[in-house]
Amino acid sequence: MRVFFLGVRGSTPAPGDQYLRYGGHTSCLAVAGGDGVPTLILDAGTGLRDLAGLLDGQPFAGAIVLSHLHWDHVQGLPFSAAVNRIDARVTVYLPADGDPVAELRRGFSPPSFPITPDQLEGDWSFSVLPDELTLGEFELQTARVRHKGGQTVGVRVTHHGTSFVYLPDHDLGEPDPAARALSEGAELLIHDGQFLLSEIRPFAEYGHSSVERALAFADEAGVGELILTHHSPGRSDDELDALSAALTRTPGGRPVSFAAQGRTVTL
Ligand SMILES: [Zn+2]
Ligand SMILES: [Zn+2]
Repeated sequence: MRVFFLGVRGSTPAPGDQYLRYGGHTSCLAVAGGDGVPTLILDAGTGLRDLAGLLDGQPFAGAIVLSHLHWDHVQGLPFSAAVNRIDARVTVYLPADGDPVAELRRGFSPPSFPITPDQLEGDWSFSVLPDELTLGEFELQTARVRHKGGQTVGVRVTHHGTSFVYLPDHDLGEPDPAARALSEGAELLIHDGQFLLSEIRPFAEYGHSSVERALAFADEAGVGELILTHHSPGRSDDELDALSAALTRTPGGRPVSFAAQGRTVTL
């Protein structure tokens, strides 16, 4: 399977010369099985705008799984030419206790936004994200994880026996057994690296992980490789380069890298 990084920022987009190499779009991954086009999207931050570039003019047909409904994970939903078009076929899965459309509409309706989810162009449906789900050739497992402000889930995607785990917003201030179980033994962990341990105040307040704690978590879960994402919108290319040079392995020896918009990983 191939994983396309379309947006790697947390909180807000990061425009500007100092963010060009790692990119400024917020959270979005596209996943394709084999050589085909992506049929699975994880989170719909502003990076979803770049999905059209992977589809060669065709409409998106597949599923969008939202880890949670914070702005940086949903803002691209109405602004992607690949999904907001009359011939798109999209199923959105989101964490919710009740009606998923009502839940999404709380932040996606006037006066916060001019339209509601059911006014998107194309054939859309909205479902509560279950614990386990089969989407074509992908098997998904989900678990509620520690974050701040509403439900947040982590997602494990398995394709022909190979797995990656997506935990873009994850508070590791205390142990999180559900996230640990979800991540156990995955070939790849894509994890929240918004802050550094030296920035203890913002990550404690905002429900995020530090880079250092994410490295330790990757070792505890025994994953094959760690890619840090959801970079702070103020973290410049030069700063990310310096972190990449300093942190190439976890303490347990697992490869570590920092996600960049436009990168593709093949598993
Ligand atoms: Zn976020
Ligand atoms: Zn969040």
